Amino acid sequence: MDTSKKYILALDQGTTSSRAIIFNHDGKPIASSQKTFTQHFPQSGWVEHDPNEIWSSQASVAAEVIAQAGLSGLDIAAIGITNQRETTIVWERETGNPIYNAIVWQDRRTASICDDIREHHATTIHKKTGLIVDAYFSATKIKWILDHVEGARARAERGELCFGTVDSWLIWKFTRGRHHLTDVTNASRTMLFNITTLEWDEELLRLFDIPRAMLPEVRSCSEHFCDTASTLFATHIPICGVAGDQQAALFGQQCLHEGMAKSTYGTGCFMMVNTGNKPVISENNLLSTVAWQINGETTYAIEGSVFVGGAAIQWLRDGAGIISSSEQSESLALSVENNGGVYFVPALTGLGAPYWDQYARGTIIGITRGTTAAHITRATLEAIAYQVYDVLDAMREDSGCLINELRVDGGAVANSFLMQFQSDILGGKVIRPAILESTALGAAYLAGLAVGYWKNTEELSLQQKVDRIFEPKMERQSAERYLLKWRKAVERAQDWVDLDDEQ
Ligand code: ADP
Repeated sequence: MDTSKKYILALDQGTTSSRAIIFNHDGKPIASSQKTFTQHFPQSGWVEHDPNEIWSSQASVAAEVIAQAGLSGLDIAAIGITNQRETTIVWERETGNPIYNAIVWQDRRTASICDDIREHHATTIHKKTGLIVDAYFSATKIKWILDHVEGARARAERGELCFGTVDSWLIWKFTRGRHHLTDVTNASRTMLFNITTLEWDEELLRLFDIPRAMLPEVRSCSEHFCDTASTLFATHIPICGVAGDQQAALFGQQCLHEGMAKSTYGTGCFMMVNTGNKPVISENNLLSTVAWQINGETTYAIEGSVFVGGAAIQWLRDGAGIISSSEQSESLALSVENNGGVYFVPALTGLGAPYWDQYARGTIIGITRGTTAAHITRATLEAIAYQVYDVLDAMREDSGCLINELRVDGGAVANSFLMQFQSDILGGKVIRPAILESTALGAAYLAGLAVGYWKNTEELSLQQKVDRIFEPKMERQSAERYLLKWRKAVERAQDWVDLDDEQ
């Protein structure tokens, strides 16, 4: 390693903002910069980004963070990229101009294409890709662009167009069109990639009618991808780490062995468990995915998400007006001895894994004369923990792993009541790290390992710092009783719509 280069630059291209963080050799963030960009909602259910704005915001925070830290490009040993996954961009190979806006992972315009495909091909797709047929993934978004932009399909067949997820797009722009690459984790979210053979799948490409010529070359997560073109950083910086955001977070949390799990508590909650070196195909409607590939070794994960996590607290604040700030939820919940028999199923946008019930609706049950805002707040925080538990329980069943320890990150982990309750319900440790930037840190680690900035994962594990470990304090019997009541409440939340449908 060139010892004059002292830092790693992590680029975290998210759904609402582009961020750049510089990490030092101890894995500590020393500077960060962030820029939000425009969300476009051209029709109900459609979500788009301008690819050029994704690029300009990402490039500007990258340059800004280096200047802010008083460094130059020469001080950066490598760049790691992590990104919003599945978001789909198609651009001209010749000019680098996008032919349509980026279709964002949240976009539902291709839901009916998925309904048709699901009928005959759900099992094949699930086996090959680990995914459930859904508009979420890139395949139908690419198809939509090829079908709706004039002349696109013919041009794609002639090799004139490139498809990429956001990582590919950034690499293309950073290298001024010299490299069209992606990594296995981003590829595994397209619904076109066979996660066992680790290749683009010809049968799926035919099924979705997508020309092979437009796809990027697939690389591992930690290797020399390319060097940036010189104009941006006044030097060539190697890009050496790439992974989708959830995978990068799993790596950043150092869940490096089978059975290790992380949960991110943001607007929604995103869980992932490392399942080792073979894909485990879920029987519980969870997704299987590539966690990372390093030095020719592939690690897999099962993933599940909860739609409304921290968003339930936002609703208490902005919708119900029960609290005035997210932080206040903790003291209010602790002001009562227990939930007073109140359960809240925050199915505000239906229920995700493992229920997958888009018709379920938010339900608060068990209210009496004695119920106060504090009980409802406590029930809301508890609901976040129950939902996470339900996904982890399904993961346990699928993977055969014990999962008795959970590493956490995201905005809502600041709430120690929530973390303690999570530990109680899980019956296992909840570990809150000192550095909550797991996603960016994961990308930095992948890049740093590839250039020898860090020697190996053992070296990384030495620098891991814990803020606090929550251990279960509740008797298992009590936890089971809470869970039983929670399940009854979930049934009610699902029932409600059944009644509605019958009218
Ligand atoms: P995202 O990346 O999805 O925007 P963040 O990781 O920034 O989310 O976390 C923000 C979420 O965490 C919000 O939904 C907010 O309500 C919740 N949150 C933040 N602080 C607390 C807290 N102290 N207690 C409970 N929830 C909180």
